[in-house]
Amino acid sequence: PLSADNDSNLTHIVHVTAEMAPIAKVGGLGDVVTGLARACLSRGHTVDIMLPFYECLPKQQMTELNLICTFDSYHDGNWVPTNAYRAVTSGIPVILIEPTNRFFKGPRIYGGSYDELEAYLFFCRACLEYMQVTGTQPDIIHVHEWQTSALSLLYWDMYHRLSLKKPRIVLTIHNMEHYGECRKEQFGKSGLDSDVYATADKAVDDRTIGHNPERLSLLKGGIVYSNAVVTVSPSYLKETLSSGWLSSILIKYRDKYNGVLNGIDTALWNPATDPFLPSKFDVQSLDGKTICKEYVQRGLGLPTKDVGASTHVKDKKPLVVCITRLVAQKGLHLIRHAIKRVEELGGQMVVLGRASNGQVQKEFEGLATLHNQGPSIRILLIYSEELSHMLYAAADMVLVPSIYEPCGLAQMIGMRYGAVPIVRRTGGLADTVFDMDDQSNHEISNGFVFEGIDEKSLSSAMDRALAFYSDKPDEWQKLVLKIMQIDNSWNNAAAKYVSIYNSVRAH
Ligand code: ADP
Repeated sequence: PLSADNDSNLTHIVHVTAEMAPIAKVGGLGDVVTGLARACLSRGHTVDIMLPFYECLPKQQMTELNLICTFDSYHDGNWVPTNAYRAVTSGIPVILIEPTNRFFKGPRIYGGSYDELEAYLFFCRACLEYMQVTGTQPDIIHVHEWQTSALSLLYWDMYHRLSLKKPRIVLTIHNMEHYGECRKEQFGKSGLDSDVYATADKAVDDRTIGHNPERLSLLKGGIVYSNAVVTVSPSYLKETLSSGWLSSILIKYRDKYNGVLNGIDTALWNPATDPFLPSKFDVQSLDGKTICKEYVQRGLGLPTKDVGASTHVKDKKPLVVCITRLVAQKGLHLIRHAIKRVEELGGQMVVLGRASNGQVQKEFEGLATLHNQGPSIRILLIYSEELSHMLYAAADMVLVPSIYEPCGLAQMIGMRYGAVPIVRRTGGLADTVFDMDDQSNHEISNGFVFEGIDEKSLSSAMDRALAFYSDKPDEWQKLVLKIMQIDNSWNNAAAKYVSIYNSVRAH
């Protein structure tokens, strides 16, 4: 339905992205693109998603897959014949760009045997080339992360001077740590003159200036050249303005830099309809949640209640879950400490995570060996969508102890499934979780928050959460019902994006 005034101005938006859930999802980026596109479509806008035709895309999850045209797109002195297909996936129209060279071949989205940076540079130009040959002129081209940032430069300095006049560019940055470090010689393969961009006010990588002036940052170029820049939470916006080497360029462009909190896909994450759950539940009845908890406990060989205890909630063991990529950003030492602390406090904890680093993998394998036969901790080093749904449903608490977190989805998903969040106050976590003991915030308080990156800080929040659970079962129940009703859907966020689109579009 067309709700806000914003939406009287219908917009054609083309996302140009490396990821899209569910067919090409690696992390939060994929979820965001799909969630935002779906919300804008349902508000009446026209949305297409342009994606590389990765060889590994599951074709069975796409319908109406048709070749629409073949064109040549420039790369490194050659014109590469390139196919463009249309398809629909998960109700969203996609345009798939398939070069006839090695790019995007292989069994995975990232980490193929081709040069990834050059492949995405090629993809940026091929998307513009496609628009030019087909006469497609959307109001907004929405690019994401370093992978598609270079499109802004190619648009304003090349294709806008040719035939594309109408589009304006919006860039969303999901994680500032990945900034598209690029050698001048690589950048030149796009057809742009890299010397022009190797200056402090354009795309030179200032972090290495003096050491290596030969490097550019595609993300920085995107910040300079896009009409609007968005990051994924208001707190992360503030953090990125006050620290990190990109802060000076973000300060310079402060007027066009916005923080918009991501939403979650409430169709996919809905405990009342979730096909992965052994029993569904909603705010009218939490019986299903109790069944999910016992199901998970039994499945993992954890006791369902204290030996000899009654069935009163006070005698049940609190179940904490932590579902995350096991990388430094996520606070690995705090996750390790939480395992210890939960055990000391007599609770239960399940970690579901995958490590991409051998050392981290080994460390957590060691912890798994130590704990997985015991009565309270389970460490599962796999990626499982299905298990993640069951764990959010089973959990009393969801732990997100990140060192930094641009937005974070786990705390929002957890709340929708009645799991009380315990988080570090950073980035999007600070914008979505408010401490139960903060008297000034009582209306919105919904979890337990700590500040420091030390173990004591974490313990202070965990101890309070577990004490609240066992000492005040009735209040805990109220809290669970309250967090399940918080609206973290895409609708709010989409309205903010639409007003950003309106503020930059050509009239
Ligand atoms: P990031 O994008 O940095 O990984 P987010 O919190 O934005 O962090 O998104 C993480 C998403 O990935 C959440 O939906 C979370 O449930 C999911 N996830 C992380 N690790 C796993 C895993 N091992 N198995 C299943 N889902 C996972």
